Amino acid sequence: MTRYDFTDQVVMITGAGSGFGRLAAGAFADAGALLALCDLDPETLQDTVRLHGLDEDRILTMGCDVSAATAVDAFVAACVARFGQIDVAINNAGIGHELKRMADLDEATFDRNIAVNLKGVFLCMRAQLPHMVAQGGGAILNVSSVAGLLGAPMMSAYAAAKHGVIGLTKTAALEYARKHVRVNALCPAFTRTPILDPLVQSGRGNTLDNMAAAIPIGRLGEPAEIVQAMLWACSRENSFLTGQAITLDGGMSAG
Ligand code: NAD
Repeated sequence: MTRYDFTDQVVMITGAGSGFGRLAAGAFADAGALLALCDLDPETLQDTVRLHGLDEDRILTMGCDVSAATAVDAFVAACVARFGQIDVAINNAGIGHELKRMADLDEATFDRNIAVNLKGVFLCMRAQLPHMVAQGGGAILNVSSVAGLLGAPMMSAYAAAKHGVIGLTKTAALEYARKHVRVNALCPAFTRTPILDPLVQSGRGNTLDNMAAAIPIGRLGEPAEIVQAMLWACSRENSFLTGQAITLDGGMSAG
C-alpha cells in the first residue's frame, strides 16, 4: 500500500470489526494515526486490535449502533474526550439485506437498512461536523456503493440507502466547504468481505464468480484497493477533493 502520513491525526472508523473498517484500522495506524473504532459488536473490535497488533494506548474502541443517535453521540463524545479532536471520519458501517424483488421486500427489512446505511451516516456526520468546524477543518468519507449510483436488482432498500448517502455527502460538502471540512463518498463494487457471504448463501445462484463476471475488469475488488482509496481521499495533501462520489468498481458504472 502506498504510504500516507497521518501522524497523530485522530481517525474515527465505524464498522471497524470486519471487512473494510478492520483493514482500514490497520492501515491508518501504520500511517501514524490515533484511532477511535466502533462496531455494533464490540468483541470484533478486540479481534481487529489483535490482528493488527494495535497499540491500546493509541486506540479507543466502543460498541455502537450507528442507527441510534444516543450511541453515535456517545461514541463521538468519547473520541473527543480521549483525543481532543476528530481529523478524519470514515463512516463505513453498513449492512446488506436478503435478495428480494421490491414487491416482496418486507417493511422491517427496508426500515432497518435505511436506519443503518442512511440514517447512520447522517447521525455520524451530525455529531462529527461541529467538532471539525470548531477545530478548523477535517475530512469525512462516507462509504456508499456502486449501488448508490446504479439500480441494484433485488437490493432496493440497500440501493435507496446508498443513493441517499451520496445526497447527504454532496450536501454536507457544500454546507461545510468554507469551514474547511471535506466530505466525500466512496462507491465500491463487489469486494471480497463478509458482507458478500449472505448473497452467496442465498440459494439464488449468486457466486463470487458471477459477481466477478459483472465487473468489466473481470474480478472482485480487493479490500486493500478500497482502503488505499480511503487513505488517499482523506490525506491532507488531497485538499481540493470534496463533494465527490469516488467510484471503485472495475469499470462497472462505465457501461
Ligand atoms: P462487513 O460486513 O465485513 O463489515 C461491516 C461492519 O459494519 C461489520 O463489522 C458490522 O458489524 C458493522 N455494522 C453493521 N451494522 C452496524 C451498526 N448498526 N452499527 C455499527 N456497526 C455496524 O462489510 P464491508 O464490505 O466491510 O462493508 C463496509 C461498507 O462497505 C458497508 O457500508 C458496505 O455497504 C460497503 N460496501 C461494501 C461492498 C463490498 O462488496 N464488500 C461494496 C460496496 C459497498
